[in-house]
Formats: sequence, structure tokens, C-alpha cells
Amino acid sequence: MLGKLARWLRFAGFDTLYFKNIDDDELINIAIKENRILITRDKNLYRKIIDKSIFVNETDIDRQLYHILKLYTANKNCYLTRCAICNTVLSTILEDPVKKCSSIKHPKTIKTFYYCTYCNKIYWNGSHSSKIINKLNNIQNDLLKKEEFVETGKN
Ligand SMILES: [Zn+2]
Repeated sequence: MLGKLARWLRFAGFDTLYFKNIDDDELINIAIKENRILITRDKNLYRKIIDKSIFVNETDIDRQLYHILKLYTANKNCYLTRCAICNTVLSTILEDPVKKCSSIKHPKTIKTFYYCTYCNKIYWNGSHSSKIINKLNNIQNDLLKKEEFVETGKN
């Protein structure tokens, strides 16, 4: 199961679909029809669509993320622009509608919120989002350093 990886790829801004219970043929059809890369831990499924899939052997989320970001660099401008739950691109909203909704507990200093029109979830940049951004940046910076090292090694 790669549900956690799917969430992290959405945090990174990648258009990411995730299915818990779906048969291989249907998954392959979606990948081909929508020109998507299929990420799987299932070696048999991987072999069925080898030119459009990535086999993830790692079980640790950091290693999985490292594996994917090594192949596809995330655009920092797209971090946290998608709903982590459903993949919908978030809309920016100002504080007034959020303030009116007393059930939402958020820090008073927050002025801008992000809204998912599909699951009605509201997000804002707080300590949780800083941690996510830091983790993504750390992995990408680490990968950049390794690339530089490989390039230097050629000379
Ligand atoms: Zn959503």
C-alpha cells in the first residue's frame, strides 16, 4: 500500500491518484488513458506496464519519497497546492469566511486559507506545513548535492 506516499506526492504538488481496491487492468487503463506513471509495490503489476511504471521496493516513506523525487523533481511553487486527501487543486480564500465558521480552530495570525472544493477541507500554513516543506526541500537539496557530486566525479 502506497497511501502515505500518495499523500506526500500531493503535498509536493504532483497530480496523484490513489486506489485502495482496484484490479490491475483497470489501473493500467487509467495510467494509459490519462498518461500517468503507475507507482506500485506489486512486481507483477509493474511488469505488465513496465514502460509507464515505477516499482517501489522501499517500505519507509522517506526512502519511497526519495526514490520518486530522484526521478521527478517537484516544483517548489506547487508545494501544498493540492488537497492531500482527494488531490483537488486548492483555492485560496481570505480569512472572513473561515472566521465566521466557529468550528474551525486556527491560529489568529493566519490571514490566508486554502480550501478544497471537493471535500470542503480548509488548510492553512502552520507548523505542520513548515515541516512538510522542510522535508521536501531537504530531500530535493540532498538529491541536488548528489547530482553535483556525480557531475564533478566525471572530470
Ligand atoms: Zn479534498
